[in-house]
Amino acid sequence: MLAVDGVSRAFGGVFAVHKVNLTVPKGELRAVIGPNGAGKSTLFALIGGQLAPHAGSVHLDDVRIDRLAAHRRARLGVGVVFQAARIFPGMTALDNVMVGAHATTRAGFVTGALRLPAHFREERLIRSRALECLERVGIADWADRPAEALPLGQQRALQLARALCGQPRLLLLDEPASGLRAGERERLAALIGELRAEGLTMLLVEHDVGFVMRLADRVTVLDLGRVIAEGTAAEVRADPRVIAAYLGGAAAPTSASAPGGSAGPEGAGG
Ligand code: ADP
Ligand code: MG
Repeated sequence: MLAVDGVSRAFGGVFAVHKVNLTVPKGELRAVIGPNGAGKSTLFALIGGQLAPHAGSVHLDDVRIDRLAAHRRARLGVGVVFQAARIFPGMTALDNVMVGAHATTRAGFVTGALRLPAHFREERLIRSRALECLERVGIADWADRPAEALPLGQQRALQLARALCGQPRLLLLDEPASGLRAGERERLAALIGELRAEGLTMLLVEHDVGFVMRLADRVTVLDLGRVIAEGTAAEVRADPRVIAAYLGGAAAPTSASAPGGSAGPEGAGG
């Protein structure tokens, strides 16, 4: 379903992502792990369309998408939950989720501008779909509250609801569990497991190695912008390069490697 071929992106002459190859079959939940600054979020931006690659290509099924704008990729089925919370303040939680559907509906603009009956039917449909998505992530009670009034955990759930409302075929989750409390993490893990059982293809970046290893079919390890290992959780855990770069010698520490969460990539050194 997803084929990333030789993709590179540099900032100021330094490669954040360097000649990365990544192939993800339909229905797989692939984890992408690596130390802070490894290039995980940049790789997601290159797939989601927030950044254009300097080299290489990205295909979704047979469609080449790396030159397309983010909203066109969204329409083709690429959903993204960003690392940093992105909510639209001044809008309710429900309206925030509806944005996810509007981003991916085709006829919306013209019928909406002309206020045709089809527009109102579509609005109703989107509204009920958005409510379902809020229920699914467990925050339906917050539907009519201003989005900025939601606590952090609920804001993260809101972003997931928004992405789901766009009915993605490929969902990119960038540290969706960061800032969540233990119970919230468990619920998120259960939901991701459900989505996987439904056949949704996902890429998951997460620092909590236990969380990742439990959920993922396969794991790709990035370091300094390059893929240094790929395999099952057990294979990756045993790989000496991975242990040196990331796991720090111990068997899968749980949260030792994520001091800053979404803090600036430069901060943690590397
Ligand atoms: P990760 O998500 O694995 O922590 P990032 O993809 O955020 O890593 O960052 C990879 C590298 O690219 C880092 O060295 C970071 O400083 C750099 N980088 C990322 N985005 C930008 C940007 N917009 N401008 C300049 N440098 C960036
Ligand atoms: Mg990141």
